[in-house]
Amino acid sequence: MTDSPQNSEKPATQAVTSGRRKEWTGPVVNPPVWRASTHLYDSIADLRSGVSSNADGQFFYGRRGSPTQWSLAEALTEMEPGATGTMLYPSGVAAIACAMLAVLKPGDEVLLTDSSYDPSRSYADAFLKRMGITALYYDPLIGEDISALFTDKTKAILLESPGSLTFEVQDIPAICAVAKEAGIVTLLDNTWATSRFFAALENGVDISIVAATKYIVGHSDVMMGAATTHEKYWARLRRTAQQLGQVVSPDDAYLAARGLRTLEVRLRQHEQSALTIAHWLKDRPEVGQVLHPALTDCPGHEIWKRDFKGSSGLFSFQLSEGDEKSRAAFIDALTLFGIGYSWGGFESLALPVDPGKYRTATDWTMAGALVRLHIGLEDPEDLIADLAKAFEHYNNAL
Ligand SMILES: *Cc1c(COP(=O)(O)O)cnc(C)c1O
Repeated sequence: MTDSPQNSEKPATQAVTSGRRKEWTGPVVNPPVWRASTHLYDSIADLRSGVSSNADGQFFYGRRGSPTQWSLAEALTEMEPGATGTMLYPSGVAAIACAMLAVLKPGDEVLLTDSSYDPSRSYADAFLKRMGITALYYDPLIGEDISALFTDKTKAILLESPGSLTFEVQDIPAICAVAKEAGIVTLLDNTWATSRFFAALENGVDISIVAATKYIVGHSDVMMGAATTHEKYWARLRRTAQQLGQVVSPDDAYLAARGLRTLEVRLRQHEQSALTIAHWLKDRPEVGQVLHPALTDCPGHEIWKRDFKGSSGLFSFQLSEGDEKSRAAFIDALTLFGIGYSWGGFESLALPVDPGKYRTATDWTMAGALVRLHIGLEDPEDLIADLAKAFEHYNNAL
């Protein structure tokens, strides 16, 4: 959606008011589910005007969405300072893939952070390669020195900050400044922070992407992605998504919009509980480093402090003596933490992570075994008791 008024309210208010245009909600609070493929026209003249205008927020055909999707997209635009529009996609991976296709062509080079989400890497290494686009990886902590990697073929940079396994915080303003000077587009995977905790476009990013599957939806029951951008790339992003036939179902858009209304209070609770548990873990004899951007020993912590407005519920920690077997004993013993991919829902999760498997530009040298936690909305005291019990199993397995 485009041309939405920039919302100057405080974030908590925005999460409540954004996208709720009267013409979309009618007399009710939430925009209803408009389930439709065909949109009917009054006359041939009416049909012809729809074809020629190609405007946002107008009935045309189901693939262009309906008020349910328009409202959600507009809300995400309003909540991102500096944004012109947002496209919705059926998953976070689809958002990353389509946004990159919108700005790349055969012969181009793209730089990806070595901390990139693994499916982003696979997409670049396999699919983009087949399209004649070369993917090169860089140290997430490279900062403005990334300019040394630029060639006349470099057309885009993918950032992810913090990395969702290893949590290095990138110097996004510095990277974006040198990219802009060189005419290179910057895309950020902002899933961890969302626009609430990191104002991507204001910090120089061109296209901000989230897996809405995570905190926007917030209830682990919908897959969705979103890409938000400013005036310069909006038409291209929108055109590419339409050409690739990207559409989300109105039912899913409804659930995502419903999740968005409580984003502020959920994020604040995830933040507080995750900090409590991260500090508790830091004092445990079994634990080495805790990779949480708000903790001083996390790489890039100072940058997080400078640029971010908060921290969310996802972080990793090192079992300093651990191996595959003792780590499995630890995770298997947890009862309140589920074992599973994804995160950002109301429930806690634990996952073994092995960043060394993915890295190509940097070495991952941390000894022991890494565990990633998503801290949900349970009482942190119960989560701590669960973790304490799991450490007993871990110690027995050493
Ligand atoms: C989950 C995730 C994605 C992909 O989102 P899906 O909706 O699962 O496709 C992208 N980036 C990050 C950092 C993620 O955690």
